[in-house]
Amino acid sequence: MTETTNAFDIAQGQFDHVAELLNLDQPVREMLRWPTREFKFQIPVRMSDGGTQVFFGYRVQHNDARGPSKGGIRFHTSETMDTVRALAMWMTWKCAVADIPLGGAKGGVAVDSATLNRDEKERLTRGWIGQMYRNIGPRLDVPAPDVGTSPQMMGWMMDEYSKLAGEYTPGVITGKPVGSGGSKGRTEATGYGVVYTIRETLQHLKLDAGKMSASVQGFGNVAQYAARGFTEQLGGTVVCVSWWDNKERRAISVSSDKGLDIAFLQSITDQYGDIDQEKAQEAGYKLEDADAWLSKDVDVLIPAALEGQLNGETVHKISDKVKILAEGANGPTTQEADAVLNERGIFTIPDFLCNAGGGTTSYFESVQNDMNYYWSKGEVLERLDFKMTEAHRRVLEMSTNEGVPMRDAAYMVAIGAVVEAMEMRGWL
Ligand code: NAD
Repeated sequence: MTETTNAFDIAQGQFDHVAELLNLDQPVREMLRWPTREFKFQIPVRMSDGGTQVFFGYRVQHNDARGPSKGGIRFHTSETMDTVRALAMWMTWKCAVADIPLGGAKGGVAVDSATLNRDEKERLTRGWIGQMYRNIGPRLDVPAPDVGTSPQMMGWMMDEYSKLAGEYTPGVITGKPVGSGGSKGRTEATGYGVVYTIRETLQHLKLDAGKMSASVQGFGNVAQYAARGFTEQLGGTVVCVSWWDNKERRAISVSSDKGLDIAFLQSITDQYGDIDQEKAQEAGYKLEDADAWLSKDVDVLIPAALEGQLNGETVHKISDKVKILAEGANGPTTQEADAVLNERGIFTIPDFLCNAGGGTTSYFESVQNDMNYYWSKGEVLERLDFKMTEAHRRVLEMSTNEGVPMRDAAYMVAIGAVVEAMEMRGWL
């Protein structure tokens, strides 16, 4: 039988596995392996050439037992109801494992953001709110950015919602630009959060951070700050990053055995995470094929692009030297690949623990919106470090006590918290 790379199959498979370990009752399993509510809708957009194009939008609210549901909006060509369902489910576990009082949701539009001009993008984002505004809100469901969406787009969405609601409502959406209700530190939050969990793992494994090397898939928001934090905060070296080149329509890796200058790479990268090949070569870096990032002789692998990238086929390309897999992306590893990683003793920091920094700082943004009082960047990052360190400690403790891999342990912590909230609310 061929392995599934369908994200929702992976999410349900992971859940079923831990539901069995926890011996969950059947009704609880049914409630949690499917979303509570799903929306699919058309968004007609007037394009700049005068024509109209119809896009499909999605929002899935997986579970809101612990608080208003929370999760990003992704603009990507391969967006389907199943990718959104999977990402919504992972958001429930992410908020629970990070111990923030929110549930899980996700949204999206099947579109290639890079093909739209600024005006078209604005009309599409406002159109998404036009379809969803009755079913989102600061106490109901709070969207945020994800792949293909930006703080500016969140600003437009907040404005559209505020117009429809008849009052300024910054708390309806997070990831807004700073100065427009956004939180300082949000841009760095997910990548830095990845680094805090790597730091805690290195400490646990008694490895010297300064001697560590890493290879990264992706060079967007998460990857850039994970790479920066890995070099600047931990003193490690990043030897390879990869990206999806929008002009050539293929993935490319860029590498240097001596280590890449991440701030320089950021300066030659556009808003979609697309690196200028010529400038990279001029700097003496090597351009390699898509999977080169995966087979590097490094200590830490950081997939930070899309789901299903480590699967039964690609997992065998991983070097024997790799000790830690830090899942910056959501759902980068299939169950088949996961089994191989466990067998090989590679320490996995599972996605919804590893990349919980974005959701956590989004929650901080809502808190600041509610208070109408804003924290300094240092204060945000300090609180983030505390939350991430605590979450890592809880999961590691569960993993040690129960003798299970970190992914199962993270699920046990998260499912336990969600089921407890459902019981307290009388749903079970
Ligand atoms: P982004 O749009 O900023 O960047 C995505 C990057 O992945 C780009 O550099 C793109 O070129 C690259 N990419 C796409 N396809 C690729 C391929 N086949 N091979 C190599 N590179 C490829 O997105 P992001 O916000 O950095 O999100 C990345 C991942 O992290 C996603 O799984 C997302 O759901 C997850 N995530 C993001 C956040 C956040 O706060 N941004 C929070 C939690 C999880």
